Amino acid sequence: MNFDLTEEQLEIKRAVKEFCDKEFDPELALELDRKEEFPMELYKRAAKLGFTSMVFPEEYEGQGYGILETCLVVEEMCRADSSLGVAITSGTFGSELILKHGTEGQKEKYLPPICRGDFISSFAVTEPGRGSDITRMDTVAIKYGEDWWINGTKTFITNAPIADFIIVLCQTDTKVRPTYRGETLFVIDKGTYGLQVSKLVNKMGIRCSVTGEVSLSDVKVTDWNIVGELNRGFYHSMEFFDMTRVGVAAQAVGIAQGSFEIAFKYAKKREAFGQPIIQFQLIGCGLSEIATKIEAARLLTYKAAWLIDQGKMDPMVTSMAKLYASKAAMEATDLAIQTLGGYGYIGEYKVEKYHRDAKITEIYEGTSEIQKLTILRYLLQRY
Ligand SMILES: Cc1cc2nc3c(=O)[nH]c(=O)nc-3n(C[C@H](O)[C@H](O)[C@H](O)COP(=O)(O)OP(=O)(O)OC[C@H]3O[C@@H](n4cnc5c(N)ncnc54)[C@H](O)[C@@H]3O)c2cc1C
Repeated sequence: MNFDLTEEQLEIKRAVKEFCDKEFDPELALELDRKEEFPMELYKRAAKLGFTSMVFPEEYEGQGYGILETCLVVEEMCRADSSLGVAITSGTFGSELILKHGTEGQKEKYLPPICRGDFISSFAVTEPGRGSDITRMDTVAIKYGEDWWINGTKTFITNAPIADFIIVLCQTDTKVRPTYRGETLFVIDKGTYGLQVSKLVNKMGIRCSVTGEVSLSDVKVTDWNIVGELNRGFYHSMEFFDMTRVGVAAQAVGIAQGSFEIAFKYAKKREAFGQPIIQFQLIGCGLSEIATKIEAARLLTYKAAWLIDQGKMDPMVTSMAKLYASKAAMEATDLAIQTLGGYGYIGEYKVEKYHRDAKITEIYEGTSEIQKLTILRYLLQRY
């Protein structure tokens, strides 16, 4: 067993850190957070350096790395700034479905612009009435002749307001039982007649990552737009989340680490009762404990990513990584605010932002409750 990152992986971490140190202007980050705006210029610069396309093969202008290298980028960016980091590293969200299940035509059309940073993608599963339970979709696609007609509404969709294309999970067979055997993925281009997107505002956190509601009213597409197999969309989506949840765990690790570093530095400098507050065991040992949890979260995340890269994806480990890392992020960011006292509660030191940004990691791509159910399902199979 070897816990060392390779020289190449360390170099990726160094390069991302250098990029963030140079490009992540704290003032700009706060302004975009206030305005709930996507950092488009930064995104394009990150894409030019390959940071947004780590997992895509070189033939599509990607970097040809694995999920572990992707996680290193996500972690480092979220460490530097929790909101910019999440926004930039989520710009290609959903495109992995095209890579895994798309036709050659779809790959040629969408993947090179995605890797170059010219396109942004979006993956729309959640509906106003269906979030955790996606075993049936209210968004329906019906075939008349050669065309599919799609009607429905998707909500809470990352990148939707700025996406060049959206992959949408639809019900294509309303009679089949179980219902999830009648779901299909379609890729729909921005500007397609009947497709409307509105931006959702007043989010608690990750405010640089834009979120939208997607309305589909008699959207007409053809078989060309089907991603993967007809009526296999549920399975494709589940497999996709088993992989991308590791990325959410990496977001959480980065957010936890970033807030911890601010708190640790502050605790060494801030004095009370004639000594630096880190000397008070209630403060110092709290930081030791959270550092331990962050390291444990990191190891679980890297293991889940490594398993995927080895072709041995284990959904139980992926769920464990997301469950544990997101909780560690909530605890670490809360502790950071407490360590900074009043200054932690005020925006200047960023830890309140890290805390707001951490919360989403317990909700999207399967809530913590859903992760526990997944873990339990696999435990019952094994024991
Ligand atoms: C900022 C943001 C970005 C998002 N981006 C996307 C995106 O890009 N694409 C997309 O499709 N979706 C996206 N989502 C949606 C997200 O994945 C869902 O919000 C999430 O899956 C939970 O669904 P829900 O909100 O409908 O909650 P519900 O499913 O209604 O759950 C409510 C509560 O009930 C609990 N619960 C539900 N079922 C069970 C059960 N069986 N046992 C125990 N507890 C249960 C949940 O854990 C939760 O605590 C995003 C959400 C947000 C907030």
